[in-house]
Amino acid sequence: MLPLPLDAGSYDYALPEEMEAPPGSFVVVPLGPREMIGVVWDGDPDPDLPARRLKPVGTVLDAPPMGESLRRFVEWVAAYTLSPPGMVLRMAMSAPSALEPAPQRAGWQLAPGAIREDLRLTPARQRVLDQLGPGEVRTGSELAEAAGVSPGVVRGLADAGLLVPALLPRGAAFPLPDPEHPGPALMPEQRAASEALKAKVAAREFGVTLLTGVTGSGKTEVYLDAIAECLRQGRQALVLLPEIALSAQWLERFRRRFGVDPALWHSELSSRTRRDTWRAVAEGGAPVVVGARSALFLPYPDLGLLIVDEEHETAFKQEDGVIYHARDMAVVRARLAGAACILVSATPSLETLTNAETGRYDHLHLSERHGSAGMPAVEAIDLRKHPPERGRFISPPLIEAVQDTFARGEQAMLFLNRRGYAPLTLCRACGHRLRCPNCTAWLVEHRAQRRLQCHHCGHAEPIPNTCPECSALGSLTPVGPGVERVLEEVTQLFPDARRIVMASDTIPGPAAATAAAEAIANRQVDLIIGTQIVAKGWHFPHLTLVGVVDADLGLAGGDLRAAERTLQLLHQVAGRAGRAEAPGKVLLQTFSPDHPVMRALVSGDVAAFMEEEAAGRRPGHWPPFGRLAALIVSSEDEQEADRAARDLGLSAPRLAGVEVLGPAPAPLALLRGRHRRRLLLKARRDVQVQPLLREWLEKVDLPSHVRVQVDVDPVGFL
Ligand code: ADP
Ligand code: ZN
Repeated sequence: MLPLPLDAGSYDYALPEEMEAPPGSFVVVPLGPREMIGVVWDGDPDPDLPARRLKPVGTVLDAPPMGESLRRFVEWVAAYTLSPPGMVLRMAMSAPSALEPAPQRAGWQLAPGAIREDLRLTPARQRVLDQLGPGEVRTGSELAEAAGVSPGVVRGLADAGLLVPALLPRGAAFPLPDPEHPGPALMPEQRAASEALKAKVAAREFGVTLLTGVTGSGKTEVYLDAIAECLRQGRQALVLLPEIALSAQWLERFRRRFGVDPALWHSELSSRTRRDTWRAVAEGGAPVVVGARSALFLPYPDLGLLIVDEEHETAFKQEDGVIYHARDMAVVRARLAGAACILVSATPSLETLTNAETGRYDHLHLSERHGSAGMPAVEAIDLRKHPPERGRFISPPLIEAVQDTFARGEQAMLFLNRRGYAPLTLCRACGHRLRCPNCTAWLVEHRAQRRLQCHHCGHAEPIPNTCPECSALGSLTPVGPGVERVLEEVTQLFPDARRIVMASDTIPGPAAATAAAEAIANRQVDLIIGTQIVAKGWHFPHLTLVGVVDADLGLAGGDLRAAERTLQLLHQVAGRAGRAEAPGKVLLQTFSPDHPVMRALVSGDVAAFMEEEAAGRRPGHWPPFGRLAALIVSSEDEQEADRAARDLGLSAPRLAGVEVLGPAPAPLALLRGRHRRRLLLKARRDVQVQPLLREWLEKVDLPSHVRVQVDVDPVGFL
C-alpha cells in the first residue's frame, strides 16, 4: 500500500528472491518514474496479473515493520470514513525520514583519564566535564547549554585532549517513567475508581470506561494511576488531549508524578523531533505518548492503554483530509490493540453517555471536588433587567462582582468566545456590512493590528476610512464585542487591574501558554480575558470569579448540538473558578435566563439536562439514536455546485429508515472561494451508512473540479 489518495488500496509488486519482506515491512518501490516508500500489505496478489508484468521491490527498509493492529486500524478508518486507504496510511507514515537510516550524529565523550584531581581547570571547563558520565556521548551544543558556557569552551577542551569525538547512539529512547513514583494519597472515591481502572489495564484486554466527575474532582490524578499500571505491564500508554499545545500545566503534573517527560506528538513539532519520536515509538522506546488526534496513527508495538481527556471536545474532530473523530477512532484503535480505553470528561457527550447507559461502556464517577474546594455558585444575570451602559458589554452586577473580587485580593476572569475587537463592521450611513470576498462570513475587526480579518480563510485587509458601498467618511462602526473590545472596556472600568488576554492569537503556542499560566499562578495578573482556550484544563488557585460576557453566544445557529456544546463549554469555563480554598462564583450574562442550558448551569444538574437532550433527539432518530452523514459538494463555479448537488439529490438512496435532506446551501455557502451545498443522510441506528454512501457516490458522475467531501457523524454543520 502506498501513502497516496488512490482508490485501489494496494498494488502488486514482485519480491526478489533474496529479499525478506513480511507484511508490515516498509519497502521502496518504483511508481511510474518515481520511487516511493510503501508498506507490504496483507492479502493475496491479483491472480490475473502475469508475474512478468510486476515490477520488483527496490529495497526493504531497516525500520520496525508496521504492526498488524495499526494495519487493521488504517483499513478500518478508511472504510468508516470512505477515504482511500492510502490517504489514511499517509497519516500513519507522517515522519517518512524516520524510515531512512538514521543519520548518526557526532558528539563528544570524556577522553580516557580526563577526570584527574591534579588537573587545574577553569570553573567553566569543569562544569562541561561534569555534564558527562563515563562513556556518555553528547553533542557540543547540548554540552555547552547544559554547562551554561559558550561552544568555544567545549572546543577548547577538545583541543586540550580532554574530550574526544564519538558517535551518538541512534534512536534515543524516552526515559521510562517510574510507575512506583508515589502520587498523592487518593480520597476513598478516587481510590475506588483508580483500583477499577488499574484492574482493567491489568486484564490486558479491550474495554471502554467513562470517567466522569465535576472539574477539579481529581479525574486526572486517577487516570495517572492507570498509566502507572500500564507501565508496570510493560505496555505503552497514549493520552489524547484536545489542545496539546496549551497543555503546559498537564505536562507539569505528569513530570511531578512520574519524574520524567512523556513523548509529545502534535503538528508543531520540528521535523527532527518528529522523526526521532516516531522512531522511538516504533522501537518501543516511548512508554507514554501525549498527543493530539494524529497520535492515534503512531506505530505503538504494544499499546495497553488509551485515554481521551475532555472526550466531549469538538477539537477531536478532524474536518479536512480524512474526516474522522479521534474519540471514536480511539475506541477502535484500543479494540484492535487489545487495550483499555478511558474516556474522561466532566460533561461527556450524549454519544458517550448513551454508550455508558446501555452498558457498552463502564462508568466511574467522582462526585466531589478534591479537598476543601466546593463547586462554584452559578448565577444568571438577566441582561434585560440589568443592561450594560450604551455601547458597553459588562452589566452593573458583573462590574460590582469584579470589584469585590479585586477587593479581596483575588483574581477574576471574563470569558467571551470571540477573538478580535468586533465581529461585525457596519456603515451607519447606508447599513452596508463588511464581508469576506471569499466566504459567507463577516470580517472581524482586529483593532490592535488595524485590520479586518476573515476567521475562515485568513483574508485580511486594512480597516477602510470610508464605506466601500456609499463612500461615507468615518461612518464604519463596530457592532458587538470581541475580547479586544472587552479589554478596552475593562481598561476604563478597572484601570489599576493587571490584565491579560488569552486567545489563540495572543497565546500562539506552548511557550506563551506556560508564561501566561505562570504569571497568573504568581498573582502577576488580576483579570484574565479569554476565549475558549481558557476553558481547558487550567488550574488557577487564586481565581474565584468567572464572568461569562455572552452566555447565549453558542446557542444561535440551530445546530443539532448547539445547546449541548454551549453547556459543555460554559460548564468547563465555570470550573475554572474556586479551585482552591476560597469559594468560586460564576456569573452568566444572558438574555434568556430560562433557557435549559442556563438553568442546568445554575442548578448544576447537568444530568437532567442531558436527559432532556436525549428525550429531544430520540424520537427523530437524531444522533446518538440514529446516524448522520453529510455530503458537502463544492466548486468554484456556483452553477456547477448547484448542478452537482441536484444530481446527487436525485440519485439519493430511497430506503426504509433512511432520509436524505437537501441539497441546500451550506451556512458557509461560500468558503475560500468555493460554493458549497450540503446534503444530509439520516438513518436509523441499525442502518449501515457506508455501503449506502459508497453506492450513491458511484452512481453520480461529477465534473472533475467538483469536490464531494463525505463527513460521517458530522459534528459541525457549517
Ligand atoms: P479533574 O481532572 O477532575 O479536573 P484534577 O485531577 O485536576 O481534577 O484535580 C484537581 C486538583 O486537585 C489538582 O490540583 C490535583 O493535583 C488536586 N488533587 C486531586 N486529587 C488529589 C489528592 N488525592 N490529593 C491531593 N491533591 C489532589
Ligand atoms: Zn474568508
